[in-house]
Amino acid sequence: MKSCLFCRIVSGEVKSDIIYENDVLIVFKDIHPIAPVHVLIVPKKHFSHLVEMVESEEGRTVLNDITKVLPDIVRSAGLENRGFRLVNNCKEEGGQTVPHVHFHLIGGKSLSRELP
Ligand code: AMP
Ligand code: ZN
Repeated sequence: MKSCLFCRIVSGEVKSDIIYENDVLIVFKDIHPIAPVHVLIVPKKHFSHLVEMVESEEGRTVLNDITKVLPDIVRSAGLENRGFRLVNNCKEEGGQTVPHVHFHLIGGKSLSRELP
């Protein structure tokens, strides 16, 4: 999608600090990190949000692909010996600001047990 920020990052039109990439996804550093490690796991194909993604066969395949390489992503983020939080904000009320599905991988410090 031409107007989508993350599609433009996927195509390389908008620069990002990529820490991991394969055929179906890229992982890059969040521009406003909330922890020492804060990267975004972003499917290359555009799905607006998580529910839209899992409603399609292709989206479910991509989600499965993400789970398969999660250990590699965690290693690339330097979190292999630590804990982390994996977050998806779904749609506006869920706090999603970029309408291209993505997962926040957050860590590098002790995170609060409280969820908002
Ligand atoms: P969300 O609010 O869940 O949709 O997350 C969107 C995230 O994208 C936020 O944490 C932003 O800081 C991050 N973000 C926005 N623009 C960029 C960008 N150009 N490069 C990297 N991260 C970005
Ligand atoms: Zn997009």
